[in-house]
Amino acid sequence: MTDLLDKRKFYIDGAWVDPARPNDLEVIDPSTEDAVAVISLGDQADTDRAVAAAKAAFAGWSQTEPAERLAHVQRILDIYRRRAGDMAWAISHEMGAPQDMSLNDQVDAGAYHIQNFIDAFRDFRFIRPLGDHAPTSMIAWEPVGVAGLITPWNWPMNQVTLKVIPAILAGNACVLKPSEIAPLSSLLFAEIVDEAGLPRGVFNLVNGDGSGVGAQLSTHRDVDMISFTGSTRAGIAITKAAADTLKKVVLELGGKGANIVFADADDKAVVRGARHCFYNSGQSCNAPTRMLVERSIYDRAVETAARVAQETQVASAHQPGRHIGPVVSRQQWERIQDLIQKGIDEGARLVAGGPGLPEGVNRGYFVRPTVFADVGNDMAIAQQEIFGPVLSIIPFDSEDEAIAIANDTPYGLTNYVQSQDGAKRNRVARRLRSGMVEMNGVSRGAGSAFGGVRMSGRAREGGVMGLEEFMDSKAISGWAND
Ligand code: NAD
Repeated sequence: MTDLLDKRKFYIDGAWVDPARPNDLEVIDPSTEDAVAVISLGDQADTDRAVAAAKAAFAGWSQTEPAERLAHVQRILDIYRRRAGDMAWAISHEMGAPQDMSLNDQVDAGAYHIQNFIDAFRDFRFIRPLGDHAPTSMIAWEPVGVAGLITPWNWPMNQVTLKVIPAILAGNACVLKPSEIAPLSSLLFAEIVDEAGLPRGVFNLVNGDGSGVGAQLSTHRDVDMISFTGSTRAGIAITKAAADTLKKVVLELGGKGANIVFADADDKAVVRGARHCFYNSGQSCNAPTRMLVERSIYDRAVETAARVAQETQVASAHQPGRHIGPVVSRQQWERIQDLIQKGIDEGARLVAGGPGLPEGVNRGYFVRPTVFADVGNDMAIAQQEIFGPVLSIIPFDSEDEAIAIANDTPYGLTNYVQSQDGAKRNRVARRLRSGMVEMNGVSRGAGSAFGGVRMSGRAREGGVMGLEEFMDSKAISGWAND
């Protein structure tokens, strides 16, 4: 216990404070299964204290000039960049992202979002005319109030910056409850915000679990909005919990993305798709986990994907290199093992990887990069979000069939299309039921919104739409124009 980092305090009203009642939880390094830190799980008194601080801060913060809020966020970005090494360490140790990937991708994603919000905010018009037909009508954009922000462990700073930054730029005050599995990066983020000198109470952090602080924020009468990223299960629970106080609820949930590979796809498409599926050890909500392949190139695609899996190195997060790390926890490891076994039992053809630890490994939550071929879209491995490095390959014969299979899922986050025929790509993109479609490996432009439809939730995070998520519109008529 003596070697553990003591991270028990919460950040409330501009100060690091002790929890109302001791309730320790160890943070486990998934590469070694050793505890690295101890945090506290908060209870109602801690949540109440943080919400009260936010509510008190909102009155003044919401009235500040946009330029003042922007200056605070610019300082946050400068300090965040300076502390990138510490942040990479925290993320590697709490959720297992390999150290190079942690710095270059996980930490960088946070800086990227903060910069994009700064750019979007500079041009943001808080009050806009409705139109020439109603010259005295204006639409004003106002902060919602106190925002409860609940985040998961898989892309910790990506998700925290997508919430905290637009919340405070818009003029809200907030209470962040990060994942109890990966809280170290958020505690460091609170240090960064503290150093940036935000007025006290504008940003608060209380650690806790879903049934504790998560549920307390969702039901709190002084919380005006919940922005949540995580599982569909928790998103449904939060929506129900928030109903009695009619909060604004914004949900970014799971996914089961289809990657449609047509016969005329470029020759890197299958390699790119398989690598993307295994990236971050498969723990991305937008992972292309169902590869739909046109029959004429199917056998070759299966061989290629199997080769990518075999060539994907799996190793400790504390080694340099381009390998993938462990998955986050024993619970996730067991869940993934169950689903791999289910794939075998349901008759899918295992062509790479499979159950158990990779060869030569006896500790850490490592999963073998796994590829199933001949998957039926009704199988569990095609319907459930596995959140591990497991790819399911499904053949198709026509464009219509590919679209039908892609849309035959309760989720709708990101789908992918690979074809060199531009007209076909555009046609297919419009028919896919998802919040995002990425084609031929071209990533979304800076500031385009991230979010889904259906059981993936309907949030829009990032850029201008991500700012508007943290505001209410107000229709004003009789506006004096002179
Ligand atoms: P999770 O839902 O178990 O936990 C996410 C957060 O919600 C944690 O902070 C947790 O403490 C809290 N929580 C859990 N139950 C709650 C409840 N009843 N009330 C309030 N808060 C509660 O998810 P996870 O395992 O941390 O993350 C993985 C999931 O997140 C995956 O399903 C993944 O697809 C999804 N995800 C979605 C996106 C997206 O943008 N769409 C991004 C990343 C992850």
